[in-house]
Amino acid sequence: MAAVGSPELLIVMSASATGEQVDEVVSRLAEAGADAHVSPGKDATVIGAIGERDLLAALPLEGFPGVEQVLPILKPYKLVSRELTPDSTVIDVNGRRIGDGYFGLIAGPCAVEHREQTLETARVVAAAGGTMLRGGAYKPRTSPYAFQGLGEEALAILAEARAETGLPIVTELMDPRHVEAVLDATDVIQVGARNMQNFTLLAEAGRAGKPVLLKRGISASVEELLMAAEYVVKEGNARVLLCERGIRTFERSTRFTLDIGAIPVLKLETHLPVIVDPSHAAGRRELVPPLARAAVAAGADGIIVEVHPEPEHALSDASQQIPAAEFEAFAAEIRALASLMGRTIG
Ligand code: PEP
Ligand code: MN
Repeated sequence: MAAVGSPELLIVMSASATGEQVDEVVSRLAEAGADAHVSPGKDATVIGAIGERDLLAALPLEGFPGVEQVLPILKPYKLVSRELTPDSTVIDVNGRRIGDGYFGLIAGPCAVEHREQTLETARVVAAAGGTMLRGGAYKPRTSPYAFQGLGEEALAILAEARAETGLPIVTELMDPRHVEAVLDATDVIQVGARNMQNFTLLAEAGRAGKPVLLKRGISASVEELLMAAEYVVKEGNARVLLCERGIRTFERSTRFTLDIGAIPVLKLETHLPVIVDPSHAAGRRELVPPLARAAVAAGADGIIVEVHPEPEHALSDASQQIPAAEFEAFAAEIRALASLMGRTIG
C-alpha cells in the first residue's frame, strides 16, 4: 500500500495533447482526491499523480484524451526525479543561473572571520567572474573548542559584501532558530553535510522560500541525498542544488573521497542541478584544482570552493583554502573547461 501523499503515477501526455486535455486529467485527478504535479516538458507534458494508489487505480487514465502512457513511479524519490520532471531545472539566484547549461562558480572563505578578510575575498571572487560568494557564519566544527563562526556579526559582513559586489550569498543554516537572521543576509541557504538528514532543518529550509544548497552527508548514499532533497521539495521549494563534497571511505590520502561517479548518476536520476565541492573532499589546496577539473569534466553544473586571502592564518580549514591571489588563474581554467563542456557561466 502506497504512502498517502506520495506521487505514485506518471501520466505522460502525447506531444500533441492540448492544454484542455492536460487540465481535464488534472481535474479528474482532483475529483479522485489526488493532487497533480504538472511538468510541461520540452517534448511532452508529464503529470505526477499524488494520491492513494487504490483511488488512482480506479481512474481509467489510459483512456483519457491526450494521455499516451501511465506508469508507476518506482523510485523512492518522486518530486526530485527526472522521471517526473524530464527537463533540467535552472535555478535563478538574483539573476545568476545554475543548471541546464548554466554553470555556477561559487567561492569564498570557509568562515567569515572578519570584515576585511571577507570583503577582500568577495572582491577577488567578483573580479575573477565568480557567480556567488560563500562564507560560513555558523560553522559545524568537529571540536566544540574550535572556532564556531561569528554568527550574526558574520551575517552582517556577508550582507555588506553582497551590497558592494552584487554577488549572491551562500551561507549555512545549522539551527532552525537562526532561520530569520540567515534569510535576511543570504540568497542561498546551505544545509551542510552533517545536517543532510536533519529532517526538521530540511523542512524548515524548504519552507524558507530561498534556494537550498544541500550537501551530501559524509556517509550518505546517492539515494539518501535524493531523499533528503525530496524533504525540501515536498515543502513546495523546488530550488535545490545538490552538492557532492566527498564521502568517508577507507582511503585516508584525501580528506574525503570525492565520488566523481555520483555526478553522472545524479544527472541521470534528478532534474536538479548538481554541483561539486572539491575543497572539503581534497583537504589540501594542491588537490583542489585537479578535483575541480574532474568535476567539470564529469558534468557538474557548478563548483563551490574555499578561498582565503591568507589561508595559512585561516581559523578553519586552513590547509584546503586556495589563496585569493591564485583564484583568478583557477577561475579562468574552470571557465575554459566549463565552456568546453558546453556550459555558460551563469
Ligand atoms: C562548508 O561548506 O563550510 C562545510 C562545512 O562543508 P560540509 O558540510 O560539506 O563539511
Ligand atoms: Mn570549510
